[in-house]
Amino acid sequence: MVNISPAEHSHGIDLESALDFLNTLHPGHDRTDEQHQTDEHLVRPADAAVWFLEHELVHPDAGIRIGEADLARIRRVRTALREVVDSVVEGRKPEPDAVHLVNATLEARRPTRLELDGTALRIGHRHAETPVDDALALISEAIIEELATGRPERLRVCANDRCRWAFFDSSPTGRRRWCDMRSCGNQAKAARYRARLKEEAQDQAQVRPN
Ligand SMILES: [Zn+2]
Repeated sequence: MVNISPAEHSHGIDLESALDFLNTLHPGHDRTDEQHQTDEHLVRPADAAVWFLEHELVHPDAGIRIGEADLARIRRVRTALREVVDSVVEGRKPEPDAVHLVNATLEARRPTRLELDGTALRIGHRHAETPVDDALALISEAIIEELATGRPERLRVCANDRCRWAFFDSSPTGRRRWCDMRSCGNQAKAARYRARLKEEAQDQAQVRPN
């Protein structure tokens, strides 16, 4: 008798959290142009460590050490993943460098292994060499899985250029354009309203006799 049991523990990340990783840069609402340029949530290595721990991408008891070089790599992978998601949303080819880096990130995880425990079969851990590599690979996997086998046509980037929050549109109609109707959606409505008032004022100015 052979038992097949799943690995003692498995951890991964859902698409929403993976997209939130992209949103650790330039996230939020009501940003000025200056803030938009500098709005970085992963400022120090510790910020990235906390993010990975909060999203259960590393074992809490194992902990994670992140140095400045790791942080730079984390940001590069984030930029590459953002480029791939943006390219899908915009219906264009992604930059080859971005694809290359995402692939290298995915390959850091070892392939699935068959492990024997007496007569029991187990799926071996697929950890990468370092916890950082592992976390980045898990995030990348969640995103490319959606792109390849999920519903990539539902990936969105908020239509507010100052926001550009990446999200999955799970609305029934699939016509969501804003990360949040109360903030970005309303801002856009208000901007359209102001533009219309201005146009009307100009029209009136033109017809008014001098
Ligand atoms: Zn938005």
